[in-house]
Amino acid sequence: MKEDFLHYIWNNGFFSTDKLKTNQNQEVKIISRGFHNTNAGPDFLEAKIKIDEILWVGNVEIHKNSSDWYAHGHEKDKAYDNIILHVVYEDNMPIYNLNNAQVPTLVLSKYIYQNVVKNYTKLIKNKSILRCQNDIKNVDKFTIINYKYKLYFERLEQKYTIVKSMLNHSNNDWEQVLFETLLKYFGGVVNKDAFELLAKYISYDILKKHKNSVFQLEALLFGISGFLQEENNDTYYRSLQKEFNFLKAKYKLEILPNNIIKFHRLRPLNFPTIRLAQFAQLYHQTDHLFEKLMQIKKPKDAYQFFEIKAGDYWNTHYNFSKQTKNRVKKIGTNFIDIILINVIVPLKFAYQKHHGVNNNEEIINLIESIKPEKNSIINIFSKINLVAENALDSQAIIQLNENYCRQNKCLQCEIAHNILKKEINNEARKN
Ligand code: SF4
Repeated sequence: MKEDFLHYIWNNGFFSTDKLKTNQNQEVKIISRGFHNTNAGPDFLEAKIKIDEILWVGNVEIHKNSSDWYAHGHEKDKAYDNIILHVVYEDNMPIYNLNNAQVPTLVLSKYIYQNVVKNYTKLIKNKSILRCQNDIKNVDKFTIINYKYKLYFERLEQKYTIVKSMLNHSNNDWEQVLFETLLKYFGGVVNKDAFELLAKYISYDILKKHKNSVFQLEALLFGISGFLQEENNDTYYRSLQKEFNFLKAKYKLEILPNNIIKFHRLRPLNFPTIRLAQFAQLYHQTDHLFEKLMQIKKPKDAYQFFEIKAGDYWNTHYNFSKQTKNRVKKIGTNFIDIILINVIVPLKFAYQKHHGVNNNEEIINLIESIKPEKNSIINIFSKINLVAENALDSQAIIQLNENYCRQNKCLQCEIAHNILKKEINNEARKN
């Protein structure tokens, strides 16, 4: 029996409260179970409990075994002086506080609904990626829909925390935050981390100075990425190399570590070289990019805005090594969806939140009008009642998987709560 499960049971009151007695046969009536304390100190604060008709106000400590009281050194700790009830699964010894008074102990195992323990054990012992896969079909649609919204906004809040720290480092410059975030997602799944690092190697101020020359932007982006380090007879390559060497000396630029940007398993249209060439065009062709992206209300607006193609050299190249047949390298709508989901919508939310504006309706309308992401996790969830119909759904599923399923946090997940609560209701009816 894990202690966090006991916390969960106590916090939600999922045990019979009829005829509760301490280990010394005192009658217990719970007026309030207190507030769950996730910081240091007792587990539940400001509880109100009657013991033999005397009302006590104070803290509750929960352990698997009563002996854990000593194992954790609480008998010497002043913070545990005001424990009015010790709640344990197993009572294996009497315990005393700093003043040598015996602490009343409630043995919760006598009162927990056994069906709930059985189902919880089944849930945590399930080794599949989705431990609740056998029970999730019984969770009602309303719970799932509400939970998706909650998870999505939780994800946006997490992203806002990152944006706040980027704003701190950039002197509140939203254009710089956009530049760093956008470049990261231009890396796609394979090069996201590498491009995030690239954004740190390129000073946004230097990039801005050279925005009027797409050639210089390419020299900066390809040079710092490490693409211009080799011998190559290609004329355009050599001119970029020459320009970069000049800019590198002028600004004392550094180059990304070797081999950090990958081509492996990428379709040529997604090659990092093509993405960097498109990124250079985007910054060359657009002023006040942040302001313009914040005006996007529908995917169609974004598709029109990102009608950008890599420069002419790239019509016959996917990288610097060889010439290919002619094909214009436009930014496709699938890629624009990724930018919408990961850059534009989160920055819209962050910007509004930062300025005390709540326009969640606009955020929801936009994200729900974007196609869902496709990946193996979305596939697994779609087979068991959590189908992603739009990008809000797919982002919510990613949030659920990353922050709950993969971290074994079922007890903090509303789906598990709903499954266990059903069992509790069934068992309470039986009693
Ligand atoms: S965290 Fe939730 S969705 Fe994930 S396995 Fe546990 S109960 Fe299922």
